[in-house]
Amino acid sequence: MLALAEQVPDPELPMLTIQDLGILRALRLRDDCVEVDITPTYSGCPATQAIADDIEQALRNAGAARVHVSIVLAPAWSSDWISAAGRAKLRLHGIAPPGAAAPLAQTMHYLPRTTLRPEASETVACPRCGSADTACLSHFSSTACKALYRCLACREAFEYFKPY
Ligand SMILES: [Zn+2]
Repeated sequence: MLALAEQVPDPELPMLTIQDLGILRALRLRDDCVEVDITPTYSGCPATQAIADDIEQALRNAGAARVHVSIVLAPAWSSDWISAAGRAKLRLHGIAPPGAAAPLAQTMHYLPRTTLRPEASETVACPRCGSADTACLSHFSSTACKALYRCLACREAFEYFKPY
């Protein structure tokens, strides 16, 4: 059941699963009911209901009698929850993965603060050539959670998934 839930893609970033994004928080079996906790990436994200429906459908297809998806808002989702595999997939699709979120957003963080480099949120490396010589073209790209950057080394424009 957990493996099935983990494979549900994100509606806005279909190359990533909800597991990659850190949206899937927990899955429990209680009697004949599968209880799933999810935390939406951005508050009021319209994709949240679609994700809940997709999880329910996937689990019911696998034979779950009852599925209950809970939306957990605290602690708030942080882009720090995106897994290493998720970051690699973003890079593969030409999107620079987010740097460390601003300290105020770190309401729940598994790493001690000291391991976060403050400059990490300032330098956005090019997902194509890895150069740190990049410039922000627009703070808002195709979606509000991404910014448009241009690499000054390879001249390619790319999207940056903003820390949140
Ligand atoms: Zn580049």
